[in-house]
Amino acid sequence: NEGRCRYAFFDAAMEQAFFAATELEQALRSAVGKEEFVLHYQPEIDLRSGTVVGVEALIRWARPGDELIYPGRFLPLAEETGLIVPMTVWTLREACRQAALWKRDGMPLRVAVNLSGVLFRENDVYQLVVDAIMETGLDPAFLELELTETALIENPEAASRQLTSLQQMGVSITIDDFGTGYASLIYLTRLPIRRLKIDSAFIQEIDSSSGSRTIIKAILALGENLGIKVIAEGIEREDQLRWLEDQNCQEAQGFYFGRPVSPARLRAAIESGSLVLPTPVPDATGSA
Ligand code: C2E
Ligand code: MG
Ligand code: MG
Ligand code: MG
Repeated sequence: NEGRCRYAFFDAAMEQAFFAATELEQALRSAVGKEEFVLHYQPEIDLRSGTVVGVEALIRWARPGDELIYPGRFLPLAEETGLIVPMTVWTLREACRQAALWKRDGMPLRVAVNLSGVLFRENDVYQLVVDAIMETGLDPAFLELELTETALIENPEAASRQLTSLQQMGVSITIDDFGTGYASLIYLTRLPIRRLKIDSAFIQEIDSSSGSRTIIKAILALGENLGIKVIAEGIEREDQLRWLEDQNCQEAQGFYFGRPVSPARLRAAIESGSLVLPTPVPDATGSA
């Protein structure tokens, strides 16, 4: 890595790092085979009504006899090794299965699944998503896909084609971590984007950075003018929420409203009334 015509000793630290990485890779490969993962779900709140508009599915590696491992520790390796593909097949199927189950049980919740940008390099993301929908029988309107700006920029034609086909089926598309990638705003008009999720870095600085406040306001205005919904992510405190409400931000997500939790705990929060689902709007025949 340091250029040609050089030699270097393969020192103990490098050796250790190498073995740690290969060990982790082997463990991850085996976990993918055994499907040793769980999805936790974090509520997304409509600020006007205070109701849950959907949930974001977040993957955790459930190593037997160990604590849950968070995605920051294994996603980069999964992306490097290609394990992200079977992992995503699992994630999509599991999230769709859960959403279909909730819907049948009177808990209709739209589920957002994060998709890594590397998937678009060599995979038919459209087919991966369609397979999950077909296998689980989920109404596609209950599935949302979250992609980062970088994911779209790396392979714009493939991403645009595949996402447009998915949107036509009823799936919605959100740009995640908006404002931190290589924003190429042209995609906002060319892709069927339903929501922008403002990166939590801006939310964390609401009280300390006028620059961050300005950017949040600009994203809200952009969404408003383009007819794209905007959700703020990473809200931890009431003062952040109040400021966002003053800016007419409509949707929010963060520990303040609820941490990512297991399906059982999400259901308990809804049953106890600490999370509220929207009341279904009666249809024209009044039968709903
Ligand atoms: P993300 O999609 O931007 O998800 C938001 C992250 O912020 C989650 O971390 C969530 O637990 C955390 N978070 C939510 N509210 C708050 C808050 O109020 N304060 C703070 N400090 N954090 C908050 P998590 O679960 O560790 O996921 C990290 C990232 O890993 C995600 O960022 C997403 O990019 C990726 N990821 C998670 N699940 C999947 C997956 O199934 N597939 C793929 N490809 N990526 C995933
Ligand atoms: Mg996300
Ligand atoms: Mg995000
Ligand atoms: Mg992120």
